[in-house]
Amino acid sequence: MENATPMLRQYLEIKKQYPGTLLFFRLGDFYELFNEDAVTGSRELQITLTARQKDSKNPIPMCGVPHHAASGYISRLIKKGYRVAICEQAEPAGKGTKLVRREVVRVITPGTSIDPLLTEPAESVFLASVTQQGDAFAAAFLELSTGEFSGTQSSEPSAWNSICDVIASYGPREILCTAALAPQLRKGLGLSPRPDPALTANENLGGVENSTEFPVLTILDDDQFAANTTNEILRSQFGVVQLSVFGLKERKATVAAAGACLGYALQTQRTKARHVDSFQYFERSDFMVLDNLTLRNLEIIESRGESGKSSLFNVLDETVTGMGSRLLRSWLMRPLIRRTEVQTRLAAVSELSDSILRAEVRTHLKEISDLERLIGRLNLGSATARDLISLGRSMSHYPAINDLLKNSRSLLLQVLSENIHELPEIRALIEKAIANDPPLNFNDGGTIREGFDAGLDEQRQLSRASKQLIAAFEERERERSGISSLKVRFNNVFGYYIEVTKGNLAKVPDDYVRRQTIANAERFTTPQLKEWEERVLGAEDRIRAIETEIFAAICSKIREETRRLQSTARALATLDSLSSLAEVAARRGYVAPVLHDGDEIEVKAGRHPIVEAFMDGSFVPNDIYLNNSTDRLLIITGANMGGKSTILRQVGLIQVLAQIGSFVPADAARLPMIDRIWTRVGASDDLASGRSTFMVEMTETASILHNSTPRSLVLLDEIGRGTSTFDGLSIAWAVAEFLHDSPEHGAKSLFATHYHELTELAENLSGAQNYQLAAAENDGEVTFLHRLQRGKSSKSFGIAVAKLAGLPSAVVDRAKDVLSRLEKYELAVFADEKAPGLPAAAAAKAASQISLFALTNEKAIDELRATDVEQMSPEDTKELLRSIKSKII
Ligand code: ADP
Repeated sequence: MENATPMLRQYLEIKKQYPGTLLFFRLGDFYELFNEDAVTGSRELQITLTARQKDSKNPIPMCGVPHHAASGYISRLIKKGYRVAICEQAEPAGKGTKLVRREVVRVITPGTSIDPLLTEPAESVFLASVTQQGDAFAAAFLELSTGEFSGTQSSEPSAWNSICDVIASYGPREILCTAALAPQLRKGLGLSPRPDPALTANENLGGVENSTEFPVLTILDDDQFAANTTNEILRSQFGVVQLSVFGLKERKATVAAAGACLGYALQTQRTKARHVDSFQYFERSDFMVLDNLTLRNLEIIESRGESGKSSLFNVLDETVTGMGSRLLRSWLMRPLIRRTEVQTRLAAVSELSDSILRAEVRTHLKEISDLERLIGRLNLGSATARDLISLGRSMSHYPAINDLLKNSRSLLLQVLSENIHELPEIRALIEKAIANDPPLNFNDGGTIREGFDAGLDEQRQLSRASKQLIAAFEERERERSGISSLKVRFNNVFGYYIEVTKGNLAKVPDDYVRRQTIANAERFTTPQLKEWEERVLGAEDRIRAIETEIFAAICSKIREETRRLQSTARALATLDSLSSLAEVAARRGYVAPVLHDGDEIEVKAGRHPIVEAFMDGSFVPNDIYLNNSTDRLLIITGANMGGKSTILRQVGLIQVLAQIGSFVPADAARLPMIDRIWTRVGASDDLASGRSTFMVEMTETASILHNSTPRSLVLLDEIGRGTSTFDGLSIAWAVAEFLHDSPEHGAKSLFATHYHELTELAENLSGAQNYQLAAAENDGEVTFLHRLQRGKSSKSFGIAVAKLAGLPSAVVDRAKDVLSRLEKYELAVFADEKAPGLPAAAAAKAASQISLFALTNEKAIDELRATDVEQMSPEDTKELLRSIKSKII
């Protein structure tokens, strides 16, 4: 850029170091964006695009936002998937033309933002990182606001899929990977393959790919994943020589992913982030596996409906802290797999079902702030005095909580109590040092309590005394000059001054020195006033400096206790989640499930937790029984709208609830430990997700058939519907048979289908059972009973449902007519002509397909039947033959 001024050159220099970000360049009271950044920024923020050097040959596009309102604009950009680099003036603007030094103080990205504007209390903000080393894939996850840091790797044949599922279960906002892995990752996570228009407009920024929905992919250089670099980053962060304490020995891929993740986060924050002080390695099989589709199909975290509010999480979340809510959400995404661990949680929930204990615990928890994030802010240098006050207030409840938990029978509650560290010295320090109601803006002064520091008190005394002198001076000067409206005022530019209105100027004493003229007054000063002013301002500068120093020292003292503060926060979050489960159990009448090492699922009067919670009428409870021998495949038929999907999901949800340690909506439940729940919903039911092709459905089905185990639970809803009847039926048939027969993949399965033909399977397979959802029909009016019964349903009530839906009665009548003819024809033609080997019902299905043609033929036959040949004239006979001939195909 030839016409670049020194300032613009400085801009370009800095911009070069931060590719892939929108650079917010501080100029006085504004942050300015230039060039492509300005074009993108003005479009996304809907602010005016102007230009610098407008009249030159190459005007420079520019837009800006006032610095005091910047956080709102920045958060809008981050929500849209952009990264923002904040460049500040690194020295006070001097006099003259010297260029002010500027530097980037922070980079804000979707996955590393800790701004409360961008972090919902109940939502974790994960930064993920993915890498491949040889045949191993690894992923790491960092929640910077709380310091939670974990990861896993896999080198099985299905490693890639399983890593993608793990990533989906964390729902990261931003994923780091190399350019080589990006296309595969986009595909694996179902992200849009085309670059966003924002990227095209901004492409010479390189790096980040902007999109309007999370996660955002951020491409890092290969060497940011290099073994040496990543090893060193982790070791220096954790202060250890060997990473083996974190389960990372021989797990090179995880080290690479974790190191890249942390390295990136530290770069953006430019602080030590000491609260990130450990790493949890986990295996996917340490938890019940709920892949992305299953999470969606079962509506575990988000509902598929429009309201978005009717998910299992919404039903269960009665937590009273943000950290409790986040923990509960993570329990739901990764339920436990070890029976003893679940039972430990269940025992705690049982104990908290004592309403008095629970009410007391929750009363205290309500007063506790989001400590996890508070500790994060403390370690990232953004904690405020108000944060410390909330920490102190929270701490004042620990003794009472510990008293409540100390004598509990539940082992978990005892352990929680041991982990709630009361840290009385920290609490005392906060109470002694920080004022009760500290100012929002630190520079206003008053954060540190009176009496905490003698030096500070002295300066405050000085400032107050001088202000009093000034006040007395005002009074005196009014008398001396006889100007009753004379005022002594203060502003940041001129300091203290005496203001006299125009009408009184004649009375101004001689010793006043004129400073400034304004519309209807003049401003003056005196040597005496100047002296007091210097005293006040000097004292205030010193007050600020002392307060800053004391506050930093207190924060640093508290930071030393990061570990114990974190374990306290985690314990309180756990207590909050457990009490939430107990609260829901009490309100909704859930019971404690009995968990066992066998294979039976036996639920008495079970209910669907979400449907029950959000429906108007009353829910019809149902019993369910499954095992791995006689009842391993349940084929569920019944009218459309009869409740097939509901019962299927109900079984899955009850199992998930049990494995997070929750009570379940039933009168009684005996449940095994399930390693994975698979759910697949027929393509035509899944349009909303945009993955509605039959191909996708079949790919998913294939993965079940390859990967399910006898300890899995498979829920198949209407699979095979996305193709022609024959295809669909045959596939559904074969899938059901495979699930039933395969010794190593044979999971307990529920198969909801509208193919009544499949009920024949149950008659041939020893482990299959037919169930139906009963409906009652009265004069063509159908009532759904929602009651699950043994046996097969013979009708689909499709026309009754169509009528309920308001199809015109002429159409409904015509459909009934067509149906009765089809049925008649089916019976007549196919009764004795079953194709060898094809089940009777399937043959009949074939019949119904052809009979669409046969129908017209049948009409002709009906016409023939209706005639009395004996009574016909030759003309009539000829006419009839013509008519019939015209009708047949
Ligand atoms: P299908 O899968 O058989 O078409 P659904 O499971 O979608 O039927 O259920 C249809 C409707 O019936 C849903 O709106 C659901 O709320 C309601 N429903 C299902 N099961 C029950 C039940 N046990 N008690 C009350 N209402 C139910």
